[in-house]
Amino acid sequence: MALSVLLLRPYQRLLVGASKWSRLSSVLSGHSLGRIENKPISTAGAPETLTSHMHGLHTLQRQLQQIAPVLRAGYPPLVATTRRLSALSGTCGVQESSMENVGLNGADRMVEVEWSDGGVSRFPYIWLRDNCQCPQCFKRDSRCRLILMSDLDVNVSPVRVESQARGGLLSVEWSDGHQSRYDWQWLKERCFSPQVMSERGKGWQRKTRLWGAELTHDLPKADFPVLLTDDRALYDFLVILDSVGLVLAQNVPCDVGQVERLANRVAFLRQTSGFGKEFVVVNKPNPGSDVAYTPAKLGLHTDLNSYSSKPGVQMLHCIEQIEGDGGDNSLVDGFNAAHQLKEENPDAFRLLTTLKVTFRHVGVDYNKYFLLQRQNVIRLNDQDDIQSISYSDQSRTSMLDMPADQVQPFYDALKSFNTIMYLPGNCVRLKMAAGEMMVFDNTRVLHGRSAYSPDSGTRHLQGGYMDWDDVYSRMRVLEMDHGIKE
Ligand SMILES: [Zn+2]
Repeated sequence: MALSVLLLRPYQRLLVGASKWSRLSSVLSGHSLGRIENKPISTAGAPETLTSHMHGLHTLQRQLQQIAPVLRAGYPPLVATTRRLSALSGTCGVQESSMENVGLNGADRMVEVEWSDGGVSRFPYIWLRDNCQCPQCFKRDSRCRLILMSDLDVNVSPVRVESQARGGLLSVEWSDGHQSRYDWQWLKERCFSPQVMSERGKGWQRKTRLWGAELTHDLPKADFPVLLTDDRALYDFLVILDSVGLVLAQNVPCDVGQVERLANRVAFLRQTSGFGKEFVVVNKPNPGSDVAYTPAKLGLHTDLNSYSSKPGVQMLHCIEQIEGDGGDNSLVDGFNAAHQLKEENPDAFRLLTTLKVTFRHVGVDYNKYFLLQRQNVIRLNDQDDIQSISYSDQSRTSMLDMPADQVQPFYDALKSFNTIMYLPGNCVRLKMAAGEMMVFDNTRVLHGRSAYSPDSGTRHLQGGYMDWDDVYSRMRVLEMDHGIKE
């Protein structure tokens, strides 16, 4: 039985049976989907009073609690979506509670809150004052702070605190005469305890499912017309794109403009200096700036590493495909390959995460362009988790800003990484048919193409990009509008 590996950063692995994986894939077809009908949840436009806003938040929480079991039943538990909702509302599994006692700790400059369900939270004076929720200090409809740092006395202290509304509100009177009130739940969600902060931190972790060649037989698929009309199917598609990094959309009309249709449904196309809004891959008689325009083999690479922030999501739509051999795509999970490198050759991994190479794109296509950027081939985030892969033999320049005696070890490391990438067990082979569109994570998935004969017909692809920030934004909005929460 084929097994897939789910990676919960940092490096917490679970083995997931193939049956779950199949269910996950089938969700995207739009057929086995349990629909959750819920009124749009939004606090935007709510009256500008603290209590009504908090009522809105309580309602949101209740609605989420009600639908949670349904979602758990209908969806594989491995696709966690709390990150995006947590990021939006700051919720972290808060139980019904109230404030038992509140008091001042002048020595530490903290307001201390004793909760009815046990435990104490400590809130720094300056943080409370800076985050006063009154209409003078905070504009609720735009979720925007009105207090400016230049007007904030960072040594301000309360003269009096008390709990009101049967422990539901913390009332603070400040030394400058200002009055603030805070809802218990708002406070609890923002607790500074290590446990609550750790819980909030989980919300920012990507839930990455590593894969190898076995994905060929279990490729996540989505129905293009359904994606364009069904919000829930679109959301599921984006969740898989985030966790797996690759989805094949099918039943795409075989004419140009479909990449932009999907991009506009999610967010919009990311323009680039080289390609403009979209690019066309077709065997051109005069290929000019890019080797992609020839029928030659294309080695595994990620696109546009010459940007400091390269396009996050790539769409490749097959409009016409050649009949004969060749022209098929290779796809490799760069995170999976990087993890293998880390295990097998930690020194090589360290070199690729610390030394930088320079990528360059120069030419004339959409317009005249000259992109230049230094990148780590494997980039880590501040938690030392793998964040992105930047690999392209084609656009890696001869400039190496590293000590001469590091060059040979660096090439050894690149060769090791390259060898792992091309292992048959790591590589998904896919020859798209006309009417299919590959959508993949360009910060993670390496793609290449086998050579083909220009005499075997026309191969016509159209491609475009989106940025992850805009995709995540769309996912949060879908979660909010449809009450989606795992
Ligand atoms: Zn205020």
